[in-house]
Amino acid sequence: MNYLIIGNGAAGITAAETIRQHDPRGQITILSAEPSLMYSRPGLAYVISGEIPPQQVIARTREWYADLRLELVHGRAQSLDVHNRIVTLADGRVLPYHKLLIATGARAVPPPYPGSDLDGVVYLDTLEGTKELLKKARRGKRGVVIGGGITALEMVEGLAQRGVDTHYFLRRDRLWSQVFNEAESRLLAEKMHHHGVHIHTNTEATEILGNWRHKVRAVRLQNGEEFNCNLFGVAIGVKPQLELVKDTPIQTDRAILVNEFLQSNIPTVYAAGDCAQVYDRWSDKHLLDVLWPSAIATGRAAALNMVEQPTPYQKGSPFNVCLLFGLHITIIGQISPDRQAKDDFAEIQHLSRGSSEAWFTFPRNYQSAWAKSGSHTLRLALGGGNGHGRTIVGALIMGEQTLADPLRALIENQVDATPLLSYLQSDRETLHREIMRLSLSVIRYP
Ligand SMILES: Cc1cc2nc3c(=O)[nH]c(=O)nc-3n(C[C@H](O)[C@H](O)[C@H](O)COP(=O)(O)OP(=O)(O)OC[C@H]3O[C@@H](n4cnc5c(N)ncnc54)[C@H](O)[C@@H]3O)c2cc1C
Repeated sequence: MNYLIIGNGAAGITAAETIRQHDPRGQITILSAEPSLMYSRPGLAYVISGEIPPQQVIARTREWYADLRLELVHGRAQSLDVHNRIVTLADGRVLPYHKLLIATGARAVPPPYPGSDLDGVVYLDTLEGTKELLKKARRGKRGVVIGGGITALEMVEGLAQRGVDTHYFLRRDRLWSQVFNEAESRLLAEKMHHHGVHIHTNTEATEILGNWRHKVRAVRLQNGEEFNCNLFGVAIGVKPQLELVKDTPIQTDRAILVNEFLQSNIPTVYAAGDCAQVYDRWSDKHLLDVLWPSAIATGRAAALNMVEQPTPYQKGSPFNVCLLFGLHITIIGQISPDRQAKDDFAEIQHLSRGSSEAWFTFPRNYQSAWAKSGSHTLRLALGGGNGHGRTIVGALIMGEQTLADPLRALIENQVDATPLLSYLQSDRETLHREIMRLSLSVIRYP
């Protein structure tokens, strides 16, 4: 059997490794458009901040590929002929296959206004791009970063650490507004100010302006003013890389549509990772999930199905850990910033503890518990009484992280959290102890 995997990232590499475990004789070729060996994309955040050198994100050695007899081909796949089962590269080479996995990932979206092609517009999404960014981020420069999520925050931190005079433009009045509540945003903002970052809320750029050498010199703001800068960092989202399947019969929506076996509408073609939109039987929807653990899990499931071991993929709870400006943050499951429920969480109630230390319940049905002491906070989102008791559906932990694993276990195992309810209004230590106690039902501590 001849397996071709387009993509040398988390999904592609996991798939290759899994296929080899189950098919010792098959021919496995991995195609990569990038010059390096497989690397950790999340690790780029630590490269830009200077915590690790660029070579430390390389996650596989040449020997590893050789030991598993994986042939790594560097080149860009340009066209796909699903009838004759061949992939043609940009340089004209042709790779045939029996089974194909497309794991081409996603790339940063450019800003939607003039000037995005200027020298000095930078992204944090590939190793080569990050090296380029580092060359440009010299002390004494003035940088603007746009984007409301984690990658923008990581870029802001990195540039500030490199001595760039860093200005963060926020469309709204809160950091990571899809996730943080006001207090969490304030806590991180304090750390950012302390590191010399200038946060400009309700501020939007409308154009990037260049000088005669085609280099960034300023941005134009919504009010018409110019704001001088020579670096413009963009992290406004990612877009699955779908160019390869454009003129093929493979069905796409926001990404390549695959069933729960990671198989596209063409039975010999599978997709995994950031470029796949996977059917989820629980929600009856095709979901896009651009996260590292999902890339690994879908890569593994796709491989098992490619080696004829039917394995449906089941989406796990979203789980993200990051370290921003010295603050550890873990986000598990469904966590919404606002008191108001989204439609999907109509049964969730919101319970919040204000600075007065008094707990209170909001009138809406959405509820979460949130406790703050110093720079440590804990927010829990509780599911409603749906016949299975009250489950914790999400948690956001800032600072002290002891509860991260216990809460993840409680959320993933949908443990009935009813015994916790009477402790939500207790002091932090008591709530902490009771969460640990409840987690004993699903975690075995050494
Ligand atoms: C800065 C940063 C921080 C992140 N932090 C986190 C985090 O904290 N937690 C988290 O869960 N996720 C994080 N992510 C997201 C995570 O890295 C991705 O979800 C994951 O890497 C996706 O893996 P993938 O294998 O699908 O795609 P990728 O890792 O993007 O790999 C795609 C591969 O396809 C190749 N390719 C693409 N097109 C072609 C072509 N036409 N021909 C040949 N090869 C091609 C590329 O060269 C590459 O090898 C972060 C991402 C970035 C950029």
